Amino acid sequence: MQLSNRVDRVRGLFDLLGVDGLVVTDLSNVRWLTGFTGSNAAVVVAVGGLTLFTDGRYSDQAPMQLSRANVDADVVIGADVIGGAIAAVASLSRLGLEADTISWAAQQRFADACSAGLVAVSAALVELRAVKDRGELDRIASAVRIADATLAEVRLILGARPTEREVALALDHGMRSRGATAEAYETIVAAGPNGALPHARPTDRVIGDGDLVVIDVGALVDGYRSDMTRTFVIGEPTTEQQRHLDVVQESQAAGAAAVRAGVSAKLVDKACRDIIAEAGWADRFTHGTGHGVGLDIHERPRVNSQTTDVLEAGMVVTVEPGVYLPGVGGVRWEDLLHVTEDGADVLSGSPKSPVVT
Ligand code: ZN
Ligand code: ZN
Repeated sequence: MQLSNRVDRVRGLFDLLGVDGLVVTDLSNVRWLTGFTGSNAAVVVAVGGLTLFTDGRYSDQAPMQLSRANVDADVVIGADVIGGAIAAVASLSRLGLEADTISWAAQQRFADACSAGLVAVSAALVELRAVKDRGELDRIASAVRIADATLAEVRLILGARPTEREVALALDHGMRSRGATAEAYETIVAAGPNGALPHARPTDRVIGDGDLVVIDVGALVDGYRSDMTRTFVIGEPTTEQQRHLDVVQESQAAGAAAVRAGVSAKLVDKACRDIIAEAGWADRFTHGTGHGVGLDIHERPRVNSQTTDVLEAGMVVTVEPGVYLPGVGGVRWEDLLHVTEDGADVLSGSPKSPVVT
């Protein structure tokens, strides 16, 4: 991927932020900016220079990854990356720190050692990251294809009384064997009453006749993630289960239809929520409708009832309403969408055909 212009875009925010330099400590932001994937780094972005501080484990990897990404930066190796960054900002007068990720201890060190005024910078880089470029979209699409192919294979075992844990393991193994670096997040397989917990962990519960099964699965490919949920029912659904499945599917379709560049993300949430409320389940849809996906599984934009985010072409968002009935089970349908000027491309390819016979 060609990353070099990202540094200039960050510098382009300096006037607005009221800074003449920024210390980037969020590791996903570090990766987005420089291509460096190590687990310990700080990047100093100044008007006239770019410096990455990391430790000795990455003395070969860091210059290699920056050069591969075409990012022109100095690399400084040392055990104390914050100390290195502090020394590098001595000449600056207004220094931005990433308020959402810098530790209290590190902030104190900057405050004690720097003559520069410190400015809390929140969300600046994550907002830039929300709009994806071609290289990012390609990686997300690869992750989507891997999850789709894996789910198509694993759904075949759902009728054979596997445990939740066995299904989750088969999904994780299937994604890795298809080339995923890892799971995009901890795979959810939640059957029967367990499905009423939106973020249930797979258990040793056997998946049997009459169960609703919520499967939330995504792959990680070269740093980028996919995210999708399908709900299955083992055997012919009861009338109540069919209604449960249909209402949430209708809600998901309404939300997806509302996605377009220029639309407030709040309206997407409302489109989903209205249909669930009409069905009498307003208080059973207990989470936001969706979120951006990229280097992080939850990133900008936020799609919920409180958000002020506005959708832009190039964003990648989920639409994932759910209805959770305690003691009974849950239904969630989640697609990943690429926002375009006149609507959205639905990236998730897995069919929404829940019945397992
Ligand atoms: Zn999900
Ligand atoms: Zn999601």
